[in-house]
Parts: sequence; C-alpha cells; structure tokens
Amino acid sequence: MSKSTQEAIKQLRDYKVTCPNCKKESPLSLWGFVQTYWYERPRGCMDGDNWWPSEDIKQCLLVCPNTCLSGGVNFAVRIYDLPIDRRELDWVFGLVKQITKLHESDLSLIFADHYVQYGDREIENSEERRRAREAELEIY
Ligand SMILES: [Zn+2]
Repeated sequence: MSKSTQEAIKQLRDYKVTCPNCKKESPLSLWGFVQTYWYERPRGCMDGDNWWPSEDIKQCLLVCPNTCLSGGVNFAVRIYDLPIDRRELDWVFGLVKQITKLHESDLSLIFADHYVQYGDREIENSEERRRAREAELEIY
C-alpha cells in the first residue's frame, strides 16, 4: 500500500460525521458500514432470486456508533442523506469507494463494523452471517 493511500485512510478514519438522529459527532472509523443489496426478479423459471450489491456508495448506510436507536434498532442513515455539503460528501465517499472498492476486507481499513442489508429487510451483521454460512457448510 502506498504512503499516500495510508495517509488518505488515516484522514478518512478521522473524518468527523455528525449523526442526524442524536446530533453527536464521531470519526468515520467508529461508524458501521452497511452494504445495501438490491433485488432483481428471476428472469426465467430456472433462475433464482438475485441480489446485487449497490455500486453507488451513496445508497449504502452508516450505523451510528453512539447509543442511538430508532424504532428499537441501531440508527442507520443513508450516506446520501448525511448532513454534509454535496461536494464534500462526493469527495469523501468517492475516496472511500476508490480505496475500498466496497470490498469487505478493505472496508475494515476504515470502518469499525461491516453489515449487509437486503432490500428493506433488517440489517444483518456480516460477520455473524459469514459464520452462520460457514457452520452450514460444515454439515456437508
Ligand atoms: Zn446517532
């Protein structure tokens, strides 16, 4: 990893984001990142349900690191809806996308936690999900 990339990561981790719900300011490194997936109908009778990860980072969500609840669950905000100046938001999250390519292992360079959400279903912890899948595979 180049020195400039390391510096950019540090800058992004320290970047302060104000939660629109609890109004507390926290560095980006403490927020959880939610990769959203969108649904595509099966195209033929042989085709199953298709879920695709959003490639537009602004359609992904951030989970507030404070004790910040909304409807009984941790508050999450769509990046697009963050109270940040448009150009700054494009710049900051454009850089996040450029560095992480939205890959889980690289997202952890910046964010504390990584989650997934399918459509408007409940947000799932991606690590728990992976463990559950591994446990399933061990059966066979
Ligand atoms: Zn909050």
